[in-house]
Parts: sequence; structure tokens; C-alpha cells
Amino acid sequence: MSSGAALIARLEGICGSDYVLTHPHALATYRSDGLAHLRQMPVAAVLPSSAEEVRAVVALCHEAQIPWVARGAGTGLSGGALPVHDGLLIVLSRLRRILAVELGDSRVVVEPGVSNLAVTRAVAPTHFFPPDPSSQIVCSIGGNVAENSGGAHCFKYGFTTNYVTGLEVVLSDGTMVELERDAPGYDLLGAFVGSEGTLGVATKIALRVLPTPETVRTLVAFFEDTYHAGEAVSAIVGSGIVPGAIEMMDRLSIKAAEAATGAGYRLDAGAALLVELDGPREECTAQFEDLMALCARAGAADLRVALSEEERAQIWKARKAAFAAMGRVAPAYYVQDGVIPRTRLAEVLARIDALAEEYGLQVANVFHAGDGNLHPLVCYDAAREGEPQRAEELAGLIVKACVDADGSITGEHGVGVDKKAYMPAMFSEPDLATFQRLRCAFDPLGLANPGKVMPTPRLCGEVPGPYREHPLERAGLAERF
Ligand SMILES: Cc1cc2nc3c(=O)[nH]c(=O)nc-3n(C[C@H](O)[C@H](O)[C@H](O)COP(=O)(O)OP(=O)(O)OC[C@H]3O[C@@H](n4cnc5c(N)ncnc54)[C@H](O)[C@@H]3O)c2cc1C
Repeated sequence: MSSGAALIARLEGICGSDYVLTHPHALATYRSDGLAHLRQMPVAAVLPSSAEEVRAVVALCHEAQIPWVARGAGTGLSGGALPVHDGLLIVLSRLRRILAVELGDSRVVVEPGVSNLAVTRAVAPTHFFPPDPSSQIVCSIGGNVAENSGGAHCFKYGFTTNYVTGLEVVLSDGTMVELERDAPGYDLLGAFVGSEGTLGVATKIALRVLPTPETVRTLVAFFEDTYHAGEAVSAIVGSGIVPGAIEMMDRLSIKAAEAATGAGYRLDAGAALLVELDGPREECTAQFEDLMALCARAGAADLRVALSEEERAQIWKARKAAFAAMGRVAPAYYVQDGVIPRTRLAEVLARIDALAEEYGLQVANVFHAGDGNLHPLVCYDAAREGEPQRAEELAGLIVKACVDADGSITGEHGVGVDKKAYMPAMFSEPDLATFQRLRCAFDPLGLANPGKVMPTPRLCGEVPGPYREHPLERAGLAERF
């Protein structure tokens, strides 16, 4: 028996032969995540059913020095779950048990494959889990932890990291450890959240949940353009009101989302601002009046207030469908994710418009305006010669525009393979070396999701161990900076 066949046999011994996939047809599903233009077949994909099976698989990889990539639901948009060509994909979708619901302690404990929405459903109606990515119906809590995911309600409530209180983690040598938020010593849990699968596999996740607010008031304000909608955002935040959500959509995204959902957004508007207040009834009622006045003063041409839960759901449906709806505008699109200070919104949006014109491509903007977290959607047609490359280049220049405006290369989608070439634009050499030392401390052999997050290879002076160059390394991107 070849060493490869022996290894597969051992994996089958751990997970069962039905859950070790090696046939190209079976593996095709797993060759990319949401960043679909980057594809790579793994050697095999395994679907363990328990933390103990994950531990045994990772320990075997350590023994045989095989690199591996953890995968949740594969909705990531930065190529974080992209397989490595000589490695194993560890798919966590079968670990989907809700292990404990302890509402007295505002706590829930889940396996990593549980979807984000299933957590809120498990604690409803009295409680909810605030981080709400638009992909929440499918994305997994394990993926949310690895990406430190956000969502529309993170302006008020914070990101995933603010809600993870404990983790069970399988380290790359197969050791299983418990990390706790309030334990004395180094905040290793804090380091793990957002580490994009490079420090280990989360196999059990304890989360804080919050009591459901007494009331919610939602409106959409329609403006002539994003400049005026941006003025409204500054006015609202400056007034001291802290909305649960402030989301902006531009003309192109309104058009696409409205065609997909028929939610009643005005097609003649240049921008729509979706604002939601939640909290005690009296406070919300008073602030809602102020909110409407602020929008009107900033130039809102029209205000639509949700008068029922159904109408609120309709309004949100358009926002949450906005990414997918871009399929109506172009056969393909590239979702960019960058952050800017709110005060630079108008300037950066103008820069994006100018770049779109220069490149002859359409760019729609849908974003978490309160956080300054932009999501420009760069539309392209892969059938047109050179267009995918132009779209990628344009998306890169948008990241540069964010960094130039004192922003960040990513707000919530992570670095993955997509953004790692831009890391030096934000961090100095000593910063990057410090990240790398932390990574090597968790994973000295560089087996956990190699080639992601950091520009590679980055040998860490005093830390031994090979750092494998990823075959999809796109050399040259960094030069644009
Ligand atoms: C339409 C759409 C809308 C989106 N909207 C948002 C949004 O509003 N906000 C937002 O933040 N993101 C959004 N995303 C991005 C994506 O949904 C999130 O990043 C999500 O958290 C990924 O979860 P996943 O289960 O799909 O992870 P995957 O894509 O499978 O993996 C993502 C990363 O997590 C690692 N990983 C997965 N599970 C584990 C684990 N158990 N232990 C360790 N590492 C692990 C992987 O190795 C990879 O690096 C959106 C994506 C789509 C397609």
C-alpha cells in the first residue's frame, strides 16, 4: 500500500469511509470558498463528526506533516478556506449540535458547524446573538470566530470577538486546549478569534447572548446621492444616537436589490440609508423623531418607516440580498471589504467612482456606514478578455484608497489569500514578525492553513519550522503599493 493510500485508510478509520472524500467529483464542491475565482483541489476532504475525530485527524496530519485547512460553510470572501494542493480539508459541517442553552447566564455553547442564525433561533424570543453577517442563514459559528465576523448590527453591538467567552481548540499537534475569556494570563482567546484558521481548529464555542430589545424602529431614507446620505450618517452619529444599524446602498445596488426582492425601495434614489433603533420603547420613540428630523435636514427626499414586522423584514430583505442581487447586473462580481474613517466617506466614494470610470467597470456600493466598513462590488464578465484581471486590479486599488484614507485593508471578511499581499501596506516589518512569532508558537510546523493571512514565505528568525509557499501566491500584487 502506498503511503498516500495508507493515510487515506487511517483517515477512514477515524471518520468512516463515507466521510473521507478523494474523488474529484466529490471534492469539486470544496475547491473554493465564496472567493470563487480562486480554486484548488485538496488531496482529500474529511468530514469528522465530533471534536475527538477532529483531534485525531489533526494529530495524524502532524505525524505525517501534512498541511490542512479547516472549513465551515465555505462562505468566506477572502479565500481563507481555499484548500492547499498538498493538504487536507477538514470540513466541520457535521459538528452542528447545540450543546447548552443557559439563558439565566446569557450563554449558549455550540459546535463550530452550527449556523449563525441557528444560534439566535436557539435563544429566541427572549434573547439574540448580535453579530449578524448577511450570510447568517448558512455561515458557521466556527467561521465567524475565525474571521471575527461582523454584520449590520455591529455598529452598536460589536463584533464576534465581543461575544466569544470560551473555546475548545485542537492545536496543530493534536493537543486539545480550553481558552477562556476571563482567565488570568495572556488573552489567547482574543488572539484566536480572527486568526483565520491559522492557530488551530475551534471544536466547541461558548457565546454570550443578549436579551432581545423591548422594541425596534426601522426606516429607510432616500437621498439624491451617497454624499448626502453620508452627511446624514455623520449627523446621526454626531447627535449621540447609537442606532442598532446604519446601512447604505447606492443607486446600482438599490436597482439590483429591488429587482431581486421588490421590497419597495425608490428606484430614482441615488442612495438609501437603512437605519434601525432598538432598545427601551420610550427612548426609541423619542430618538426616532430626532432621527427622522436629522435625515430630513441632511436632504432626504423621502422616508419610509416600517409600520409592521413584515415591512421591516421586507426592508432588510433588500439589504441582505444586495450582494447576491448583483448577479442581475453582471455575470460575476468581486466583493471588496475595506474600512475608512466615516469622515472620509464622500472622498473615498468619489475615488471609487473615478476608478470605476477609468477601468470601464461598474462598481456598486453596499456597506455598514456606521462602521465606515465599505463593500464595493466590482462587476465583471469573465467571458470578456482581461476583464477579471482588470476587476481584481481595480479592487486592489480600492483597498489602497482605504489605506490612504487612514483605513484598513479589511473590516470583516478577513485577509485570507486575497489580502495578504496588502499586509505590508498596514503593518511594519516588526509588526509582521510579531504576528508570525505568535503563529509559530501555536503551529511551529506551519501546517494550519499555510499561505493564508501573512505574505509568504516569512521565516521567523528564531522560530524553527518550514513555512510553505502557497502555490497560488500572487507575486507582484504587493508592488502596486
Ligand atoms: C452573501 C455573503 C454575505 C456576507 N456578509 C458578511 C457580513 O455581513 N459580515 C461578515 O463578517 N462576513 C460576511 N460574509 C463573509 C462570510 O460569510 C463570513 O466570513 C463567515 O464568518 C464565514 O463563515 P464560514 O462558515 O462560511 O467559514 P469558511 O468560509 O468555511 O471559513 C472561513 C475561515 O474560517 C476558518 N475556519 C472555519 N471554521 C473554523 C473552525 N472551526 N476553527 C478554525 N478555523 C475555522 C477557515 O479556515 C477560513 O480561514 C458574507 C459572505 C457572503 C457570501
